[in-house]
Parts: sequence; C-alpha cells; structure tokens
Amino acid sequence: MRSVTILGATGSVGTATLDLVEREPDRFRVEALTAHRNVAGLAAAARRTRAAVAVIGDESRLGELRNALMGSDVEAAGGADAIVEAAARGADWTMAAIVGLAGLRPTMAALARGKAVGLANKESLVSAGAIMTDAAARAGATLLPVDSEHNAVFQCYERDPARVSRIVLTASGGPFRDWPQERMRSVTPAQAVKHPNWSMGAKISIDSATMMNKGLELIEAFHLFPVGAERLDVLVHPQSVVHSMVEYVDGSVLAQLGSPDMRVPIAHTLAWPDRMATPCQKLDLARIGRLDFGAPDFVRFPALALARAALEAGGARPAVLNAANEAAVAAFLGGRIGFLDIADTVAAVLDRFDPAAPVNLEDVVAIDAAARIGAEEAMERVAA
Ligand code: NDP
Repeated sequence: MRSVTILGATGSVGTATLDLVEREPDRFRVEALTAHRNVAGLAAAARRTRAAVAVIGDESRLGELRNALMGSDVEAAGGADAIVEAAARGADWTMAAIVGLAGLRPTMAALARGKAVGLANKESLVSAGAIMTDAAARAGATLLPVDSEHNAVFQCYERDPARVSRIVLTASGGPFRDWPQERMRSVTPAQAVKHPNWSMGAKISIDSATMMNKGLELIEAFHLFPVGAERLDVLVHPQSVVHSMVEYVDGSVLAQLGSPDMRVPIAHTLAWPDRMATPCQKLDLARIGRLDFGAPDFVRFPALALARAALEAGGARPAVLNAANEAAVAAFLGGRIGFLDIADTVAAVLDRFDPAAPVNLEDVVAIDAAARIGAEEAMERVAA
C-alpha cells in the first residue's frame, strides 16, 4: 500500500491524480489533500478517499471546511503553513500540483522527507533550480517529472548525459500557433484558455498560448536532465502525440508517444518504477494518420525567446522571468492588460531588475516578491 499526498488536489492535475488513485484503493491510501479556496471540491475528495487530513490554504475558509467534513474522520487544517506541514507528513508519494511559486515551500517540504515526488509545479523548479534539485539529492528524494514533455524525456533518457546529443521538447504551439502577431493583440482570456489538445488550469493554458510554457519547460528540463542548455531544443508538433524525444550521439532518437491525457504521465510517476493501467484512450496512429512538425517562431512568440535568454543567463533570471510572468498572466486573466502585454511586461521587468543569484529559498522568495512589484509597475506603465 503506497501512501499518497496531493498538493493542489482540486486543480486539473490534482483531480486527474485523484481519478487514478481512486481506481486502485488496494494500492493507494490518501494521506493529505490540499487546496487554496475550493472547500467543496476538497471536502468531497477527502471524504471519498478517507484522507487523513485536508488542508485549505485560505485560512479564512477553515470553518467552512470543518463544517463540510463534519461527521467524517478527516482532520481539517488551514493556512499556508498547514499545507507545508501536510507535505512534510512524508507520504510515500507526493504530487506537487499547486500552481505557481506558491508550490515552492510545500514541494521542498515533501522533498526533504526523501520520498518520491511527482513534480507538476514547474514554476518552483524554474525559480529555485539547483536549490531544489540539490535538496532532493541531499534527502535522497526521487523527483519524478509529471509535465508530459519531461515525463517523456524521463522515459527515454539513459542516465549518461555524455551519450545525449539533444533533448527535443515538443510544443503544440497553442491556440494561436499560426496567427500573425497583430491578430493576437485583441485576444480575450476566454480565447486564450482554450487549448486545442489539452484541458488544463487557466494559468498554464495562458502560458501555452504565449508559449512561455515551453520556455519554462526548457528551464525545467535544464534542471532535470544535466545535458546543458545548448543541447535543449523546441519543436512545434500540433497534434501533441509525440511528447518529447532524446537524440543520442549515434543518431538514434527515442521518443515517447501517447494520447494527450495527463493521466498517462501522472500514472507513470504514480506507479514508478512499476506501471499501472489507466482508462486513457489508447493511441490510434492509423486514425490520426499524420504527424506534423515545424520550427518554433521566436519572433511571434517573444515569451519563448525571453525564457531561452533567461535560461542561458542563469542566476536569478529564471526566477525574475517566472514571477513577472505569473503577475502578468493574472493581470491578463483579470482583464487588466492585453495578451501581448504579457511578454512585454516580462521583458520590462527583466530589463530593469537584475538581482544576484539566489543561494537559498529565502532569496528565491525575495526575488519573486520584488519581481512581482516590478511587474505591477511595468503594467501600470502599459495601462497608462
Ligand atoms: P489549476 O489551476 O487547475 O489547479 C491549481 C491547484 O493549486 C488547485 O488545487 C488550487 O486550489 C491550488 N492553489 C492555487 N493557488 C494556491 C495557493 N496560493 N496556495 C495553495 N494552493 C493553491 O492548475 P493545474 O492543475 O493546471 O496546474 C498545476 C501545476 O501543474 C502548474 O504548475 C502547471 O504548470 C503544472 N502542469 C499542469 C498541467 C495540466 O495539464 N494542467 C500539465 C503540466 C504541468 P483551488 O482549486 O482551491 O484554487
């Protein structure tokens, strides 16, 4: 019996994880589930799975959560620190699926227990980078990539980086793949969250539309697979069937394929090093018929170019990029700035703010906070 904690249990990745866990009650036992504000979703999942503890991040909703769990054996807790404590309970396997840098402290707490952590929360790895991977290594924790691209690479990667000539992350190109940039100027949040292949949370859907998501993924790959930034590439592949590939020095290319359903990579990490059955549609290549590929366009999608530059510069640049992007995406979703202003805001913050490289978590949190303030100032200039 494997004990499981899901951080961000009410989100897109969290509910997909629950779906798999609940299919095999003899194999998985739920330790802790967490959410931010969604009391109803959290309480329902905690009751169904008989979780030991359910934590709501927004402490003002703890009373509501207690009421919703009345009569069950589930312990209720509230607040950001309670999420960290839940992560630190040391489940055999933890899903890190909180969105944004809010996931950093809980993910680090789970890693410190030296168990397996499925990492969906890419923003934390992008911002904390080696601080996170070093902590995982020190604790003897296993970081299992959940992002479909990195999970694909993980499945194709032989441990010796010297044999790898290139890692190629595939990108669907998002809903505006073929649009001229001017046409993107007026897109609405409703248009931008509609991803052609994947059903995901709002923030990552916007990141996919700007292609910042692929940029964050380049940085994520840099920390997960030590081949060096120059051996990381992006390839546009609209069908999202080939999830990524590893090219070896002898010219062999290993790729992982599957239907675009997050339960496939989640199941891989949940059962790892074993495999488990999923209800996902099996890949029918005869029906799909053709697979297309093309080079990414760094001009129409400047966010990708900004992320690539941040990766190459290293230091605090990825943390600044991530924080500015989180602030700008939230502002776009809130109707405060336009779609193209997202990348412009990130560029403005990177231009003006160049702090020293973080050496610990406190540095990462401070850089993140300062970059968000910079982003708010930049957005006021954009809106003026
Ligand atoms: P969602 O927005 O669907 O879910 C986010 C989850 O995090 C929810 O449970 C939410 O709780 C919780 N949460 C939000 N803010 C906070 C906070 N401040 N403190 C604590 N918990 C919080 O996101 P996704 O599931 O789409 O994405 C989660 C992560 O996985 C992201 O980092 C994303 O980039 C990554 N990812 C997602 C993929 C996908 O297919 N969706 C694919 C690959 C990676 P509540 O519901 O209460 O607000």
